[in-house]
Amino acid sequence: MDAIINCSPLPQFVIDSDHKVVYWNRALEEYSKLNATDILGTDNHWKAFYNSKRPCMVDLLVDEDIDGLAYWFLDNYKMSELVEGAYEGEHFSPHMGKGGKYLHFTASAIKDHEGNIIGGLESFEDITQRKIAENDLQESEEKFRSLVENLNVGVYRNTVDLGGYFIQVNQAFARMFGYESTSEIMETKVIDFFLDPSERITFLEDLKKEGSIIDRELHLKKKDNTPIWVSVSAKAHYNEHGTIEWVDGIIEDINHRKISEEALIKSEERYRSIVENINDGFCIHDFEGNILDCNENFALMLGSVPEEIIGTNLDEFSSNTMMLEKNNVTGELKKTGIVEFDADLLKKDGNRCYYNIKSSIVSGKNGDKVHSFIRDVTKRREMEEILHESEIKSQKRLAEIEAIYNSAPIGLCVLDRNLRFVRINDRMAKINGFPPEEHIGKTLQEIVPDLAEQGEIVAKEVFETKKKVMGREFNGITPAKPGVLRTWIEQWYPVKDSSNQIIGINVAVLEITDIKRADKALKKSEEKLRLAIEGADAVMWFWNLEKDVFEWTDRYINIFGTNPDPEMSYDDFLKSVHPEDREKVKNATQRVMQYGEDFKVELRTIWPDRSIHWVYSLGRLFYDFQGKPKEMIGIAIDITPSKLAEQELQETLKQLKRSNAELEQFAYVASHDLQEPLRMITSFLQLLQRRYENQIDSDANEFIQFAVDGAARMQELVNDLLTYSRIGRKTGKFEYVNTEDILKQITFDSRLLIEENNAHINYDSLPLVWADYTQMVQVFQNLISNSIKYNEQENPTINISAEKKINDWVFKVEDNGIGIDPKHRVHVFKIFQRLHGRDEYDGTGIGLAIVKRIVEQHGGMIWYESKPGEGSIFYFSIPQGDEKYEI
Ligand code: ADP
Repeated sequence: MDAIINCSPLPQFVIDSDHKVVYWNRALEEYSKLNATDILGTDNHWKAFYNSKRPCMVDLLVDEDIDGLAYWFLDNYKMSELVEGAYEGEHFSPHMGKGGKYLHFTASAIKDHEGNIIGGLESFEDITQRKIAENDLQESEEKFRSLVENLNVGVYRNTVDLGGYFIQVNQAFARMFGYESTSEIMETKVIDFFLDPSERITFLEDLKKEGSIIDRELHLKKKDNTPIWVSVSAKAHYNEHGTIEWVDGIIEDINHRKISEEALIKSEERYRSIVENINDGFCIHDFEGNILDCNENFALMLGSVPEEIIGTNLDEFSSNTMMLEKNNVTGELKKTGIVEFDADLLKKDGNRCYYNIKSSIVSGKNGDKVHSFIRDVTKRREMEEILHESEIKSQKRLAEIEAIYNSAPIGLCVLDRNLRFVRINDRMAKINGFPPEEHIGKTLQEIVPDLAEQGEIVAKEVFETKKKVMGREFNGITPAKPGVLRTWIEQWYPVKDSSNQIIGINVAVLEITDIKRADKALKKSEEKLRLAIEGADAVMWFWNLEKDVFEWTDRYINIFGTNPDPEMSYDDFLKSVHPEDREKVKNATQRVMQYGEDFKVELRTIWPDRSIHWVYSLGRLFYDFQGKPKEMIGIAIDITPSKLAEQELQETLKQLKRSNAELEQFAYVASHDLQEPLRMITSFLQLLQRRYENQIDSDANEFIQFAVDGAARMQELVNDLLTYSRIGRKTGKFEYVNTEDILKQITFDSRLLIEENNAHINYDSLPLVWADYTQMVQVFQNLISNSIKYNEQENPTINISAEKKINDWVFKVEDNGIGIDPKHRVHVFKIFQRLHGRDEYDGTGIGLAIVKRIVEQHGGMIWYESKPGEGSIFYFSIPQGDEKYEI
């Protein structure tokens, strides 16, 4: 026994029934650091294990105090499975070894053959290493558990049978599924977590097949039956037979992700369905125009399908390549993020269509893209073009209407309710006498006060009846023609707005002043004609050419001395004409028919009483609408009295001419023949005067002087008379005469007279005239000398000019002289007529008579204008270049 205990590597000790240590082996000495010598024979063995005195397990067994075990060792003891009646337990002795030791101890009572307890044995095993490992494991397990518990990832273990339960789950699992505790989960069948139990079957089948499943998404349900998306990864654990014993898995809540994913899918689907369903084309492209995606519509627009379009470039379809560049799409997009432009795209079949493109930048994970919505605006463009065309057309029409409006021969205007001009055409403006723009905004009263009252009355009628007023005659004066009473026919139309309210009046005005006047004039002239015809004892005739019948008015008898035959034909008429005149009548009639000339014939008729009467007949031919001669209308006047008077006149004229010629001859001869004796008287008188001047008294001298003067004057008169009578006799030589040269000659010849009187003679360039040079000199000479003579000014001024009037040159000789009293008007050009006495102005009174005669001989006329004290203007005309006036 001694040897056994001492040799045992296990620490052991033995006590006797009195609890005194009888054995204390070497191994125990090592462990406890208590020597056997100190312990043996004592009951201090407790010191090896405890700090204060207490029974060891062997003490209790020696005393057979089994209850004491429970008391002293709590539940840290158990009956040994190896030694009968022995007990074992574990204990940590902190003071033992380095840092204390875990000891496993086994104690048993030692009995004699009779079964009496004689002592007890307690042996120890150092389990410190195992215990530390166990503790470490437990600690790490603990840590893992708390990690697992705190994770939001569910961890579970279960079996693969369908009706199975979870063997183990963590808190997170419970939380995930809305359970209060893990144990509550354990009481729930695994299949009850599935929304769709068939999913569990598939899952298990797959697991059996694969041995593990990674990230399987399952749609499960929570405790309150709300669905939850989870991702499950599971691994099967097999037993030695190769069958699955349990499954470990982790389960992750992906509900949130799934829902947002679903939402994303939904929104994507929605977006796609929008994109697919919109009528617009849609495409996603990059900044270079490379098409990344597009909808059916866009493809359709290009006559294709999306698959063919995606991957191509927008510019391939653009009729003007560089569509994006041209429209600066990229630039605009980068600047504002959005751009809209119009472009035309070519379809596959070559048709060109117009599109409106709205592009915007959409940022994404893979950089910025362009989303473009393309709308077919071909129709709109066509419509626009049509619209544009029709706009141009209507503008043109408007311009035409405007032009018509303005150039209309009718005055048009629009007045507002206050009778203010709103619009007016040129004609109307002209009628009123103001430019169109000056009318706008002014009232009728302001523009045409004379017509305002009439206008206001008619306007009132229009406003009250709401009806147009037609054909009203307006009479009045407008500022355009002050003092002229004018007449218009006017139409006043109401202008209504959409609610049928009258907002103004449209006035159309047709001027009939002239028609009115013509009408009056016609009536007057008709009346005059009637009076004339009646007064002239004339008769009107109407010759119907178709029926060859003459009709006459009442006074036929006065001309033809009998009543007319109602069926009178042309031949019947000819019979009433003097046989000698019939040919003349026939010729005239023929000329009428052939050349359409008027019928003008003087004819003689023979009355039933054989007396002859002169008739002047005047007629005109009228045609039918086809241009065929239809009727001749004319008048016949009895001109017998005037014919007789004319015959008489002719006779008198002949006599007059004869006596005039005789008179001229006489004047000529007289003045010519008188000159000789006159010269003789004068020269003898002068001889008398010279020779006897000193021998006779002063009275006789004066008488002789009177006689000399008288003779000289008589000579002057005779000379002038001769000149005058010569004009009528002398055959002048006609030529082109430069009147300017004449003036030059006269101013030279009369320079003394001009200087003496301080006179000024002004003339412009003067014309060439067909005339007798000497006579023209005479004319100017006489007029100029009169202008100087009958002038009291310091500087007599004479202006001479010429003006062309139709076929004449009219010369003007203007002076600033004394002028001529109107009462002398009739005497000025008469021969020997003087307006002043000799003591006032010298002269014979024949100068102007000569001028008149010369002018008239040249086919011209002479007249004058004058006011006493204001000078005189003498005018005379000379027909230009007409040789018929040659004498
Ligand atoms: P006279 O030999 O008297 O000048 P005229 O026949 O030349 O005769 O003129 C007739 C009259 O007309 C003149 O007596 C003169 O009274 C008047 N007369 C002619 N010329 C002018 C003139 N330039 N200014 C004023 N009176 C004139």
